Amino acid sequence: MKRNQVNSRLVLVSNRLPFTVIKSGSEVKIRPSTGGLITAINPVLSKSGGLWVGWPGIFEQLDFDDAFTHWQKSTGYKVQSVSLDKDEHDNFYHGFSNEILWPLFHDLQSRCNFFNTDYWTSYISVNRKFAEVVEQSIFPNDRIWVHDYQLINVGQELKKLKIKSKIAFFLHIPFPPPDIFFKLPWRENILNALLEYDLIGFQTYHDKNNFIQCVRILIKQAHCSSLRKEKVTKIQKSSKQTIASHFPIGIDYRGFVSDSLQSEVLKQAKDIRESFLNRQIILGVDRLDYTKGITCKLEAFRKALKLFPQLHQKIILIQILVPSRKDIPEYRLMKSEIERLVSEINGEFTKPGWVPINYIFNTLNRSELLAYYRAADIALVTPLKDGMNLVAKEYCATKTDGNGVLILSEFAGAADQSHLGALLVNPYSIEDVANKIYVAFVMNKTERQAYMRKIQKAVKRYDVFWWANSFLKTWETYSCDSKLKLIENKTKNLIPNTSNTNNNSSSKMFIKLLGK
Ligand code: UDP
Repeated sequence: MKRNQVNSRLVLVSNRLPFTVIKSGSEVKIRPSTGGLITAINPVLSKSGGLWVGWPGIFEQLDFDDAFTHWQKSTGYKVQSVSLDKDEHDNFYHGFSNEILWPLFHDLQSRCNFFNTDYWTSYISVNRKFAEVVEQSIFPNDRIWVHDYQLINVGQELKKLKIKSKIAFFLHIPFPPPDIFFKLPWRENILNALLEYDLIGFQTYHDKNNFIQCVRILIKQAHCSSLRKEKVTKIQKSSKQTIASHFPIGIDYRGFVSDSLQSEVLKQAKDIRESFLNRQIILGVDRLDYTKGITCKLEAFRKALKLFPQLHQKIILIQILVPSRKDIPEYRLMKSEIERLVSEINGEFTKPGWVPINYIFNTLNRSELLAYYRAADIALVTPLKDGMNLVAKEYCATKTDGNGVLILSEFAGAADQSHLGALLVNPYSIEDVANKIYVAFVMNKTERQAYMRKIQKAVKRYDVFWWANSFLKTWETYSCDSKLKLIENKTKNLIPNTSNTNNNSSSKMFIKLLGK
């Protein structure tokens, strides 16, 4: 650990750095990543002069110094890479994280590969590696915020390295109920590792509750008590206190609204609409993953065309499938199955001048994606289970005239905030989804706007800055042990009213919280 730093910095730890390093000839280049976490965290780290620790996305040991210095100059915060070799990455990331935790935490236990014990060993040793890099890079007053299922054990490894800093964790994916979680051979290890953090954040109340139930049943020494009408739960295990709460992640709502009004986006959206004149566009945007329920969605669309002939030649489904985990054979098979279904359905229903499904297998850039959102009359978002689902929120943000309908899986975290204005469906019920497609199709503009405005209000208020802000505020509030004793009586409202929050005021709040 480094010494002589008075101010507290935020140290963010995630599997990947906020960019990918690319080798181009003898040069090392950086391609910035996009996404909610980076949008939210960049202003925080920039202003507090923090640090981001993660894997740079390349196995080769290159000289990153120039590229990292350049990044620091342009963002105001430092980055520190964790180097991994291919075997480590395969076992820790593809193996334990994505063949065990990912399916299990999405309630799909039959897809878990529990039998490769090397995966667990590698998960622990890679988490240890991350902890060692953090340990070498921090100052005593720094706060360490670890992210997501790949790095659950980093906090425990930091404790083994005698790090005294405050540490918190946010889980971006769901947490399963006890019946499912208990299948995990390393269930106590994972729960005990989570209980090393000062604060654990979940996407939804339901996820937090699942976690608390697992702790209550499995960790006999732990006592859980809910504070403030159960928004926050305190877990006492020996002398260690952990706070668990839920903080649904949001999007940069205002950024999406203003980008969707750019002339380039408006023109592309108009072109898309003109290609499908007099037809309603249903849009699906999903990463290639079995949790997204894409085959169920296609079957539901087929069912809708069978049940409601009025839809023929009047609707089209544009299904965008974003390539993901291409190296895994199971994902390649999934892609083939989706493509087989698309061509089967098109073969069954196509008429002259009307092909019911337009299928795109590609990653779109932001303006193309926004154009599809704006052009779509209906968004069909039907994951079997999803931590949040940002596509649902992004779609609503771009419908600035309010004239759109969101059909949303009740098993997406986003359903918690959108339930008042979305048509919720059980994605496993093909009939339910088919019926809701019809309901959305016949809705008039006034009804659509009334529903959409309700979702927009929630998505705007609970945006990504609110998310980061409320997490850090809760962390600050509960960091001091003496405060914990008073908190039940004294804290009025942990979640600030951020209806006026913008990027800048949120950043100021963070700086205050970080003691600068
Ligand atoms: N996205 C993108 N290009 C595309 C399709 C999607 O950049 O062609 C982005 C989209 O804007 C969203 C993210 O990918 O922010 C998907 O997030 P979501 O939570 O919906 O699903 P995930 O893929 O994280 O499971």
